[in-house]
Parts: sequence; C-alpha cells; structure tokens
Amino acid sequence: MRLAPTPLLALLFASAALLPAQDTAWRQHDPDRPHPAIVTPGATPSAPPSDAVVLFDGRSLDAWRGREGAVPAQWVVRDGYMEAAPGTGAIQTAEPLGDMQLHVEWAAPTPPKGRGQGRGNSGVILMGRYEVQILDSYDNTTYADGQAAAVYGQYPPLVNAARPPGEWQVYDIVFRGPRWSAAGTLTRPAYITVLHNGVLVQDHVALWGGTAWLRPAPYERHATKLPLVLQDHSNPVRFRNIWMRPLPAEPVVPPHQGTASDARHLTAAQLAVYVGTYRASNGETCRVLRLGSGIGLSIFDRPDTMPLVTAVDGDFTFRDTAGHVRFTPGTGSTPMRLDVSIAEVERSYSRVP
Ligand code: MG
Repeated sequence: MRLAPTPLLALLFASAALLPAQDTAWRQHDPDRPHPAIVTPGATPSAPPSDAVVLFDGRSLDAWRGREGAVPAQWVVRDGYMEAAPGTGAIQTAEPLGDMQLHVEWAAPTPPKGRGQGRGNSGVILMGRYEVQILDSYDNTTYADGQAAAVYGQYPPLVNAARPPGEWQVYDIVFRGPRWSAAGTLTRPAYITVLHNGVLVQDHVALWGGTAWLRPAPYERHATKLPLVLQDHSNPVRFRNIWMRPLPAEPVVPPHQGTASDARHLTAAQLAVYVGTYRASNGETCRVLRLGSGIGLSIFDRPDTMPLVTAVDGDFTFRDTAGHVRFTPGTGSTPMRLDVSIAEVERSYSRVP
C-alpha cells in the first residue's frame, strides 16, 4: 500500500507527535523532574502489565480481522489459544498500531511436519510489512535470515533460542516504525529489538525496508499506525497471550549546559572567605577550592570538584547538579558553617581552622 501525499497526510506527518519529545535540560538528581507513570507489572512474565492493550486473551478474536479487514477472523480459538487455520489467510488487528512493545507467545505444530520453511511457519508482521519470522527452528535448518526470530530476509537472529515444537515460545519485541519527512522521504528506518524466550536475538536492528521474498524491498511511505498481522503460511501455528504497549516518542534530553559560574561576579576576596576545608560531625571532610574564576566543592571523597554558582549572599547552587550549598559566617569562636543538600543527602560541616 502506498499512500499518496495529501495536505492532511502531510500535516499528520509533520505533526509534533511524530517527532522525538524534546525534554527539558535537567540538572542531575533534580527532585522537580517529572516522575514516570506507575505501571503494575503482570503477575507472571506472560501476563500483561496494567497499561497494556490485550490483543488476545485466549478467548476471542474480537480484536482481530481477516487479512483485508474481513469480519470475523477465521482462525480457530480453543483451550486458551488461537490457531492458524491454513488457507483462511493472515489475520490482522482491528486497530492500527504504531511504535510498541509487543508480547506474543506461539507454538509450532507437533509432531513436526515438513522441513525448512515448510515447518511451523507463521510470522509476526509489524505494520503488515515488517516480519519477525515464526518457524519451527528446533532441529530444522533453513536459510539463516528465514529461521525463527529472523527479521525475514534481512537479519538472522543472533542465536537460535528455539524450543521444541509444541512448547510455548515467547517473542518480546520492541518496534519503532520508520519516520518520513513531510515530503515523504525516509528520515529514519524502522528498528526492531527481539527477545526470543528471554534471549536477545535482534538488537535494535535498522530495517532495510519491507519484508520481501527473493529480493530486498525498498521502503514505501505509509501511515504511522497500521494493523499488526499474523501470517498464515499453511501451518497450524498456535498463539496465546498477545499484548502490546504503545510507546511514546523517544525523548531527546539535551544535557544540562552548565553556564559560566556566576561566582566570578564575586571578587577574589569575597570568594576567598569560603575557601578551605570543612569537617562534618562524623569526621567526613570536604573542601571548597578556587575553580577558574569561581569556586567549587570537592565532596564525598570524589576526585572532581563541582563548580558552584552564586545564588544570593552565602547561598550557592551546583552548576550541573540539583542541590544547594549554604555558607553561614562564623562568629567569635564558632567557625564558618557549610550546609550541603544534594541527591537526598543533607550534610552540615564546620570550617577547619
Ligand atoms: Mg513466516
């Protein structure tokens, strides 16, 4: 399927939702940084986490259609699994799907029949065009880029982690669809990561294009969400526990760009007041040093000195890390006090005479 560019499509392709989410540059350990949503994991590795979309729960094909969207899908459902009904054609999700984490369990027919590509062949075809091969690859040799967990015709799996036919096997897939410019040219290929029975077999591979037999197929521009397809390759392969989690755009977090220390606006004499060694009640020491035209803090026995930035009189922040440093002038026999707050650590020090 090739979609002709239209103004609406061009608008969709250009929308910010398709671009990486630009996050704020955060100082390290900033307590104000937004926290991730809470997800309750499944009770078992097979069970969907709380934010998953269940595509097949073992009971119905309600979320599935025939290859061209026909209703109902013709595959067999029994005993908590679905089975490809040879000759009925592939099935596809009713809903179009984009970037996702996908969990699929499958089992090749037993006793095994056929050999090579003819034994236990099916496939998880992302967006209806990028196939992660399903094949009985237990004691069954075929071309490497066509065995189980291959990105068909492109990437053999890193290892063969197949279980014997009849045993349930697991694909955990992370898929990122291709990206296109508003003009329709490919700006980033699709990427696939696959774990087969918990073993990494595809490591964020960049796809050459769509899946094809006998020859590589170039990319063809398509929508950002398309149905997920399970292949009918004339073998009664079984499936269960199919769920997915839509993935948000990948965040692009620029590193915090520390600016030149404002401490330079204090005179050398003003800064010199703070320079020295400080000791906590537990004996731990830290040091305040001149650093460039400003000052820095050497703490927790770390080899580096962390630049400080002036806030208000006696108060400093770290240039690169969330936190505060406060100096309280000494009086009489009471030495200068230094209070440090960083990464959930609060520490008070006294200047060593
Ligand atoms: Mg296949």
